[in-house]
Amino acid sequence: MVLSVLTAMLGAMLLPDDRQAIALKVAAQGLPECRMYHADGSEGPCLPVFTVTRGKAVNSRSLAGQIAFTHGATTRLSDDEFALLAGHEIAHWYLGHRGSSLEAELAADRLGALLACRAGYDLTRAVSIFRFVGRGRDHPAPALRRAAVLAVDCQGPRPLGTPAMHSR
Ligand SMILES: [Zn+2]
Repeated sequence: MVLSVLTAMLGAMLLPDDRQAIALKVAAQGLPECRMYHADGSEGPCLPVFTVTRGKAVNSRSLAGQIAFTHGATTRLSDDEFALLAGHEIAHWYLGHRGSSLEAELAADRLGALLACRAGYDLTRAVSIFRFVGRGRDHPAPALRRAAVLAVDCQGPRPLGTPAMHSR
């Protein structure tokens, strides 16, 4: 009860352990050279912070390394679908995107798919996630996005770059 009041006050909850494990595994496929230094003197790889927001719809967003999934996205997706969604949002961060555009969404789809498949997830099973996705002004047609994901070469070079928070 106290915890639910607290999380309601914060407006966010942490991912369930199984989903957190998937998201971290996907994130770990990129940017191995990037290190984060913590207040306690420890260091580790650059990793986004994952949270859960309310809502039955399957949705997510990425802002400066803070990645939020709706509750629906954490409960209604298969592991492969969730890995692709996490990869897409992580890719927005890795690519330094500040806003949404057709170009940015496709770039995040491609890099996100590469991260997910390198983490061991099956893209041919993951693309069923596009059943939840409509076509908006900023989002390419689902068929185009599905094709972009399936065209990714999982054995291709490891993505390099610097997360947006470190390039400023
Ligand atoms: Zn996106």
